[in-house]
Amino acid sequence: MADEASDPFQDTQAARMAEAWARVRSRLRAEVGEVEYRTWLRQMTLSGIDGEEAVVTLPSRFLRDWVRSHYGDRLRALWQAEGLGVKRVDVRTAPAVGGSAQGLADSLARCGEPSARVEAAAEEAPPPRGADLAAPLDPRFTFKTFVVGKPNEFAHACARRVAEAPASPGFNPLFLYGGVGLGKTHLMHAIAWAVREARPGCAMAYMSAETFMYRFIAALRAENTMQFKETLRSVDLLMIDDLQFLIGKDNTQEEFFHTFNALVDAGKQIVVSADKSPSDLSGLEDRLRTRLGCGMVADIHATTYELRLSILQAKAAGAGVEIPPRVIEFLAHKITSNVRELEGALNRLIAHAHLFGRPVTLESAQEVLRDILRAHDRRVTIEEIQRKVAEHYNIRLTDMSSARRSRQVARPRQVAMYLAKQLTSRSLPEIGRRFGNRDHTTVLHAVSRVAELMASDAAFAEDVELLRRMLET
Ligand code: ADP
Ligand code: MG
Repeated sequence: MADEASDPFQDTQAARMAEAWARVRSRLRAEVGEVEYRTWLRQMTLSGIDGEEAVVTLPSRFLRDWVRSHYGDRLRALWQAEGLGVKRVDVRTAPAVGGSAQGLADSLARCGEPSARVEAAAEEAPPPRGADLAAPLDPRFTFKTFVVGKPNEFAHACARRVAEAPASPGFNPLFLYGGVGLGKTHLMHAIAWAVREARPGCAMAYMSAETFMYRFIAALRAENTMQFKETLRSVDLLMIDDLQFLIGKDNTQEEFFHTFNALVDAGKQIVVSADKSPSDLSGLEDRLRTRLGCGMVADIHATTYELRLSILQAKAAGAGVEIPPRVIEFLAHKITSNVRELEGALNRLIAHAHLFGRPVTLESAQEVLRDILRAHDRRVTIEEIQRKVAEHYNIRLTDMSSARRSRQVARPRQVAMYLAKQLTSRSLPEIGRRFGNRDHTTVLHAVSRVAELMASDAAFAEDVELLRRMLET
């Protein structure tokens, strides 16, 4: 940094920053492990401190984006912990020695390789075919780290099958679908890693549908669509993530359709993910939808408590911090939306424990995750409410929407409507619809009736409160 020795203050300051940077790097290295560090972080350079901001540079846009989104928060937290007044970290690109394309080639060639072989591979191995279009693979997303449970066992089995025997009849294309954060991208990367390991010469390209579109548009602009087509059609395995992005993008869909046909006809494997099944992806051209549904369609369902528990246990095992079973159960119980959020919560606990050297307890977890937990409190669904209330009063779930009016089912139904109003943001007509198409005045009546009863009957009030608490946790 300060290359003139004339200002001793600047020198000391620079030296202090350099030392801090070395510590930040080595802490991050310890946290993420050697393979990940070498794949993504090794080429980071501290190019300066700008007021409260540390400027970190990487040699390619891919690496920059990856580091920003995956390690940005950790870099910032570690810098802040140094106590030198750095509050933000700006991750930028800067040309590296050896050219900027090297970053991507490096990350493609090196991902997941044992570290000793990594160095040697970088020099010799040319990037695989199709690689100049592909996004880097996440070294964390392998079959080994994928926890299998009821909701994802079918999708997982299909992914395994495709990885073992690409382009098998009946499995081409493999269409994976499910809600956000349930493991679609993870499974796709896992396929890529497994194929790469078993068949090192196999050319593959993984990219999001969005990237596909941008690349296609860029090729159109640069008038080299031929090259774009050729590159894509030269791969043995093409994976397009989040296909729903192509809805309404007619030209790109058309291009994808042709690529798709060319590859399938040539006996190459295609894996596609989306948030809905092919038949539900309205807005996609019919002929494309039909072809997408021709191979194997596998859905990933919402997580169950058991799966969340297993995932947390697996992830906590490698954390280097003791996470008490009670905390794990608490998280599995509370954070039900998707695996990404579950993981995010756990990572935050781990980072906190590392940073402050304090053990994780139920109390500290509640404190550290307060914002996440609060957001989840608002996300109780009407179905959950109906199920819990039906269970509690020992009536059938179907009675929540049945026409039966006997007191024995009518009262629990009213309680469920009351809780739906209290705990969700649904409107009265919406709630009515979910309770067997009842009118919104019926819901309104239920809400005020339950409130009245709660005011006059302490035991009943306690019952409803108990239900509310169960639903909120
Ligand atoms: P999607 O692509 O479906 O939105 P991702 O594949 O990105 O979801 O998954 C989100 C996060 O959750 C990732 O970090 C992924 O590793 C993790 N994850 C999802 N499902 C599992 C699973 N079954 N086992 C382990 N980790 C999982
Ligand atoms: Mg994804």
